[in-house]
Amino acid sequence: MTKPFDPVAEIAEFIDSVAPYDPNPGDPVAVIGVRTALGEGVFAVSDHVIRALCRALASYHDPEDRGTCAGCGSRRLDENLHCPDCGRLHGILGQVIAEHARRIAAEGGA
Ligand SMILES: [Zn+2]
Repeated sequence: MTKPFDPVAEIAEFIDSVAPYDPNPGDPVAVIGVRTALGEGVFAVSDHVIRALCRALASYHDPEDRGTCAGCGSRRLDENLHCPDCGRLHGILGQVIAEHARRIAAEGGA
């Protein structure tokens, strides 16, 4: 049986995993509060822990984030790197198709 996703427990676990490496364990410098349907937690954390949490957040990359459309700037590229907003294809396949379209156009114009 899998446990339900519990953000409070996840944050407590993260704090426990980095706190032992705090070179200057001392007074808390930040308070993190989380409240969900499963419960709530308030954590007073040290400089080391809040920095670790911020670094973890900064290194997060959303699996749905496939970059920005070079055509219209949309951030909603689908799994085929196709932009639903302007129709542009990105990636190797997009390049091949664009190249092919250019060749066809050039031949047609000649
Ligand atoms: Zn686009």
